[in-house]
Amino acid sequence: MIRFDKFTLKSQEALQAAQTHAQEKSNPQLVPEHLLWALIQQKDGVVLPVLQKLGANIQVLATELSAAVANCTLYAGEDPEDVANFFDFANSLGIEGVMMSPGYSYQHAPRQDVFLGRRKSKELFREIFKIGKKRGSKWHFNQSSMFIDFLAGNQSYQCTPWANPTYNVFGWQKPCYLLVDEGYATSFKDLIENTDWDKYGVGRNPKCDNCMAHCGYEGTAVEHTISSPLTALNVFLFGPRLDGEMAPDSE
Ligand code: SF4
Repeated sequence: MIRFDKFTLKSQEALQAAQTHAQEKSNPQLVPEHLLWALIQQKDGVVLPVLQKLGANIQVLATELSAAVANCTLYAGEDPEDVANFFDFANSLGIEGVMMSPGYSYQHAPRQDVFLGRRKSKELFREIFKIGKKRGSKWHFNQSSMFIDFLAGNQSYQCTPWANPTYNVFGWQKPCYLLVDEGYATSFKDLIENTDWDKYGVGRNPKCDNCMAHCGYEGTAVEHTISSPLTALNVFLFGPRLDGEMAPDSE
């Protein structure tokens, strides 16, 4: 579990500022772009001078990080060219950010052949990103660079389901909004303290084996962004690696 009390004071301040910024923008989720926005507001922090040294336009970066979204869930049989066209189209409409994810293999779905496995998901994302790179497209995603790197098969992330808790009319859903048969907690405290979190995630639960959904893995990507800001910055500036070996799945 993420231990916020283990973060440096500056990191805690940045997280607080990121949360406030997300609330002010009425954004339903706290995502790494909020955090990067907060980090570049820290005049005496480490991120701002690094970006300045790299020649980044801080004003433009801050404006872009303040900005919106479309949802895009991908299934088996998608044509990478079509998806790339959609992202270009979203850009042309001025949509500020697209949130994308492979469709979760929902066990109660009447058709199971529409879901991508993890390997096929990663291959599809690499193909899509290659097309974007070739076209010189500047797509805007409402997701962290490290999550995109994960989708491209470059990160062995384990799920962090408590990072995006779901509350609905039944209560706090265990462990995430995708698993519908695990029950509900009566309070957030009950959810956090009485969910057997180790039961969930890739390699731990057959229901999780093909999942690469943002609700579970974006939290892991955020934690990685905080612990390795320069790695995240590198992916943010230059994009994910699109060739070579893929990282193994987490165990
Ligand atoms: S891997 Fe995580 S997000 Fe995906 S279904 Fe399992 S617990 Fe939920």
